[in-house]
Amino acid sequence: MKHYDYLIIGSGIAGLSFALKASRHGTVCIMTKAQRDETNTKYAQGGIAGVFNTGDSYEKHINDTIIAGDGLCNREIVNLVVKEGPVRIKELVRWGASFDRNRNGEFNLAKEGGHSDKRILHFQDSTGAEIERALLAQIFKKKNITLLENYFALELVTQHHFGKKITKASQGIECFGVYAFEVNTAKVEFFSAGNVILASGGVGQVYANTTNPLIATGDGIAMAYRAKAKVENMEFYQFHPTALFHPGISPSFLITEALRGAGAVLKNHQQKEFMYSYHAQGSLAPRDIVARAMDSEMKKSGKSFLYLDARKVSPVELKKHFPNVYNHCKHAGYDMRKDLVPVVPAAHYCCGGVKTDEWGKTSIRKLYACGECASTGLHGANRLASNSLLEALVFSNRILMHCLEFKKSNSQRNPNFSPKDIPRWDASRTTNPEELILILQVKKEIQEMMSSYVGIVRSDVRLERAKKRLAMFFEETEALYKKTTIGVDLCETRNLISAGYLIIKSAMLRKESRGLHYNTDYPFKKESAEGTVF
Ligand SMILES: Cc1cc2nc3c(=O)[nH]c(=O)nc-3n(C[C@H](O)[C@H](O)[C@H](O)COP(=O)(O)OP(=O)(O)OC[C@H]3O[C@@H](n4cnc5c(N)ncnc54)[C@H](O)[C@@H]3O)c2cc1C
Repeated sequence: MKHYDYLIIGSGIAGLSFALKASRHGTVCIMTKAQRDETNTKYAQGGIAGVFNTGDSYEKHINDTIIAGDGLCNREIVNLVVKEGPVRIKELVRWGASFDRNRNGEFNLAKEGGHSDKRILHFQDSTGAEIERALLAQIFKKKNITLLENYFALELVTQHHFGKKITKASQGIECFGVYAFEVNTAKVEFFSAGNVILASGGVGQVYANTTNPLIATGDGIAMAYRAKAKVENMEFYQFHPTALFHPGISPSFLITEALRGAGAVLKNHQQKEFMYSYHAQGSLAPRDIVARAMDSEMKKSGKSFLYLDARKVSPVELKKHFPNVYNHCKHAGYDMRKDLVPVVPAAHYCCGGVKTDEWGKTSIRKLYACGECASTGLHGANRLASNSLLEALVFSNRILMHCLEFKKSNSQRNPNFSPKDIPRWDASRTTNPEELILILQVKKEIQEMMSSYVGIVRSDVRLERAKKRLAMFFEETEALYKKTTIGVDLCETRNLISAGYLIIKSAMLRKESRGLHYNTDYPFKKESAEGTVF
């Protein structure tokens, strides 16, 4: 058995930025199920939001965030994220992350949908890759950080594993560590920890079209839910309006919103701009409005895509600020300088997740959640563009502050439970999965079903149907899980089912349309609203 003061699940911006800070105070292990940089973070293009522009203000950023969040943001959390953000961003710069600057050496700030000022720091259109690079470079310098690749966290260990009955109502649930599956040796090990930090990212893979890489299967959210942590607001799934329409290619390639900030506009098949009939900000309206407008235009025309017209963006700017997007589209056969580019909305960001407080604490003792897997109250019913990288930075810092404050009590072992008594993983399931196709087919069917019934526009009939289909997948997968040896595909599919269940159930509970959740049977907002907590 291995023991670490801080055990982090995930090597994106949330996990790495926490690890760097925590390494000054104890032993740190970062566990990731794939290669170290295979994260949503690496694919972030647009940038990170922060108040740096003369004329911009905290109040403006706070207001924009709250307007996007459509009545469900926690004002106190929005305040602290916006106000602590710039300091954390400067820290990221000290760690070596580069952001584009103008001739005077000031940040070259971009504007994105829903923002009332220029406040997006970016590195060309590959901001996430630059951040991931810089953080990993710092991680390698730290001797007391162990980074384990190809380790898949399976379950959070709580009193349940000592045979105690645990329910949602149980008081004092505590996390002692995790069971993890080493992909190369197919062995399951127990890792004991003083504090466990879930930084396991999003769940885009629950949908057929997504900008998220294959790792985004909601493992952390599913594990926390199984361990009886509170999970909230899962119905608010953000679809990015502009993914390149490229059937058969997964994940879908994202075309950053910053390109619309630079002048690109959405057009229909008659080559007409349509967004002004939906919102005064046209193509730069908040994402939920743009995605829904696109859904409606596509349904009206019976087409599977619309167009992005970037021909008015100067070729110099295209190549200087958007080289990644420009080259990718060119490779796919579209020269943005003269061609319209076919685009379609794709599942992009999970606004809900494991419920945390202002210190990143979950409802389970010694378990924290940070980044996309967490629901801090910042995004409410809809995330404002470029606020997620910011949220991860601010909360990784806050979590450490809390861990240090409670260091004494957190490092004290619970006298009733000794890590030595933690049972070995039950490896009695000795049958090898007969046919991988069974698992992969279920995964594909879940993705298609979720896209058809629980996508941008929902209805009671669709949600009911989705619930029934998912129950069938659940039974089939659990039966397989009980008798076969553990494997990544099987565990991910199980987690996708849990995440899908949470999205469907939350959507069914919300008898109104708000933010990213739109149900044709309840097209209006209720006067007041609360989060959906499980
Ligand atoms: C294409 C794209 C563009 C985006 N652009 C922007 C943008 O411009 N600005 C912005 O603010 N946000 C953007 N986002 C969102 C943002 O990138 C993510 O929300 C953020 O990077 C999430 O960081 P994270 O550290 O929480 O998770 P991730 O970066 O996704 O890292 C998750 C980590 O957890 C690991 N993991 C998962 N499950 C397990 C398991 N069971 N066991 C072990 N390890 C596990 C993964 O392997 C990975 O290392 C974008 C997202 C995408 C996909």
